[in-house]
Amino acid sequence: MIPLAEAREHVLSRCHPRGPVPVPLIDAAGCVLAGPVVAPEAVPPWDNSAMDGFAVRAADVAGASEDRPVTLPVVATVAAGAAATTEVGPGQAVRIMTGAPMPPGADAVVMVEATRGGPDATEIEILASVEPGRNIRSAGSDITAGEQVIDGGTLLGPAHLGVLASVNVRRPVVIRRPRLGVISTGDELIDDDRPLAPGQIRESNRPMLVALARSFGIDAVDLGTVADDRDALATALRDAAATCDAVATSGGVSMGDFDLVKVVLGELADMRWMQIAIRPAKPFAFGMLDGTPVFGLPGNPVSSMVSLSLLGVPGLRRLAGRSDLDLPRVTATSAVELSGAGPRDVYLRVACTWDGPGLRAAPVPAQASHHLSATADANGLALIPAGTTVAPGDQVTVVLLSAPT
Ligand code: AMP
Ligand code: MG
Repeated sequence: MIPLAEAREHVLSRCHPRGPVPVPLIDAAGCVLAGPVVAPEAVPPWDNSAMDGFAVRAADVAGASEDRPVTLPVVATVAAGAAATTEVGPGQAVRIMTGAPMPPGADAVVMVEATRGGPDATEIEILASVEPGRNIRSAGSDITAGEQVIDGGTLLGPAHLGVLASVNVRRPVVIRRPRLGVISTGDELIDDDRPLAPGQIRESNRPMLVALARSFGIDAVDLGTVADDRDALATALRDAAATCDAVATSGGVSMGDFDLVKVVLGELADMRWMQIAIRPAKPFAFGMLDGTPVFGLPGNPVSSMVSLSLLGVPGLRRLAGRSDLDLPRVTATSAVELSGAGPRDVYLRVACTWDGPGLRAAPVPAQASHHLSATADANGLALIPAGTTVAPGDQVTVVLLSAPT
């Protein structure tokens, strides 16, 4: 057996970030920005109003109050999207909407709530004073033209896309999310709704692994179940390697397995078959097939999930150019005693919930590697180092599979 860290390093040593490509902005979420973006334009592009109200000269309304309003003639109206052409002269006001350009001459906006007069009034009573600059969003106050607005290497989130759109970057150059082809193998697996013959089971890993990989920011695709047939496996694996950035197979990597996937991958690819000192997910294989990384995940449903989470994710995120290679780790208070008996580090499936200011981790009630229904309620893997025990109330490290609730 080898430590998890050694297998992870082996994977990382063969996974390299993909090349940068321009993509339509809407597809850039979850991708890594290849290089810094310098803003070609300022945001806002010109001074504009932060409020619906009246553009004024601040000096004209000094001392205005509810009891001593200042009355100003309204000389124009400027809406968002219109150009502000009418100048605000001394003792005048221009009705202005949020986002409309500031008219020349005005140096502040009085919000409509601090005025009295109807929407069509030709005169407006100002009920409060404003200091110069009040309620004005000045040109470039969010982004100045020429400023480096997003650093290279940034994992683009929703607001980054908004920033890029605001400075007219329509096709950012990114490292795309890798396309992972997921294949399951095993003659016992049935994909459709026919009744099960003796020895057959329903295939369940593919929908889980595809969804899990997607939840981790990977563009996973379902490449079906391949029967234990040498030619079918070779063709499916080669096709997958040619059309995807990485391939994950499930099944047939354990000791003493008769599945042909091991034989075929052994012939086609430069594979390393490993026994990892963790429970579950001891068997794991990794190699390169025609230059494409192949992750050989164990077939046991819980094991395949843990294997993808702990060993697939770092390699796939390296392909994606990400610096956050691993799933997040948090510290939680253990609800019960958690035991790591045996020679392997145990990754117990736990439900992690907010309990006051901190997190509380409770193991799901069934922990064997075929107990998928209990695992479905887990959102974390609590690490119990081999041979140790965590007492109730003690702190435990949890690898988060999804955000705690
Ligand atoms: P293996 O890793 O191929 O030895 O499989 C280990 C266990 O997981 C066996 O009980 C298999 O029947 C089961 N298994 C393998 N692949 C799948 C799958 N895709 N869906 C559900 N169970 C599977
Ligand atoms: Mg099998």
